[in-house]
Amino acid sequence: EVKQSNKNGYKLFNSVYAKRMQTTQAFFKKIGEALDKGQFELYYQPKVDCRQGKVVGAEAMVRWNHPILGILSPSEFIPVIENSGLIIALGEWTIQEALRQLNEWAGAGFNIHISVNISSRQLHNQEFLQRLQELFARYDVEIIRRLEIEIVETAALEDMRVSSEAIRKCRDMGVSVTLDDFGTGFSSLTHLKHLAADALKIDMSFVSGMLINPGDRAIVEGVIGLAASFRLQVIAQGVEFIDQILMLMALGCDVMQGYGIARPMPGKKMAIWLEKFKPDPLWSLSSTHLTS
Ligand code: C2E
Ligand code: MG
Ligand code: MG
Repeated sequence: EVKQSNKNGYKLFNSVYAKRMQTTQAFFKKIGEALDKGQFELYYQPKVDCRQGKVVGAEAMVRWNHPILGILSPSEFIPVIENSGLIIALGEWTIQEALRQLNEWAGAGFNIHISVNISSRQLHNQEFLQRLQELFARYDVEIIRRLEIEIVETAALEDMRVSSEAIRKCRDMGVSVTLDDFGTGFSSLTHLKHLAADALKIDMSFVSGMLINPGDRAIVEGVIGLAASFRLQVIAQGVEFIDQILMLMALGCDVMQGYGIARPMPGKKMAIWLEKFKPDPLWSLSSTHLTS
């Protein structure tokens, strides 16, 4: 499944080309080589607290700086390796890189968290959890505590027993867990109880539709209410417009993330962005509790 790009024709060409490439074994091989050659990079998208208007963290999104195709999005290569050992290797690199970045940012005085996306295959891999522990041995507890993982709801539901056990182990190690794309799966209240996550991230599709579609609005409100009942944090992703931001604030959402705040960017850019960031004065229009 290739992400549709509306940015420009060349990106679309890349996507089409990448899609063709995906069908070949060569593409698969290249991903392994790319890892060795250091062609992967993490981009970071800021997350902002809805009440204080402060940056609380960033989500790491992997990019492949392909020598010919340019910057490739995860949707262009993750599905290809999803069922192979490569996803474990890439996932390990991602965690390693996120920890390195957390350490660097902490040194620069940026005490924010980083969340990384974990595929279900990774979550269910026993060695992965062990490897996580090995990587953690190199860092202070405060750094490890700033690492979070995101698991898509549908992946967490795949094998409830294994998932809930893995989530518990992650949390035992001090890593908090977010259920990503929440609302797209079919979590029952019982599932939520057993999964014992720390946060729910409302799927972008509901946020995009909430101002025009009463069903989407109901889902957003429902997830916010559900999170409150379970004492979970709730994050809205894919926030693009000011009216969405104001509505999320009014509905009592905790954290928001989306192009309306910032696009994912390389770590170096993110440091500059963090220095300059100020909450938009428009945000205080509806939200009397915004402090800055
Ligand atoms: P996700 O975790 O749901 O991430 C959100 C995706 O939506 C990202 O795309 C992000 O760039 C994009 N996005 C963020 N804000 C907005 C917005 O306001 N509007 C719109 N239209 N899009 C927005 P990206 O980076 O292409 O990532 C796609 C998916 O690939 C992610 O979905 C995530 O599930 C997966 N992914 C990303 N990095 C990794 C990784 O390191 N490992 C694994 N296993 N999966 C990853
Ligand atoms: Mg995510
Ligand atoms: Mg998503």
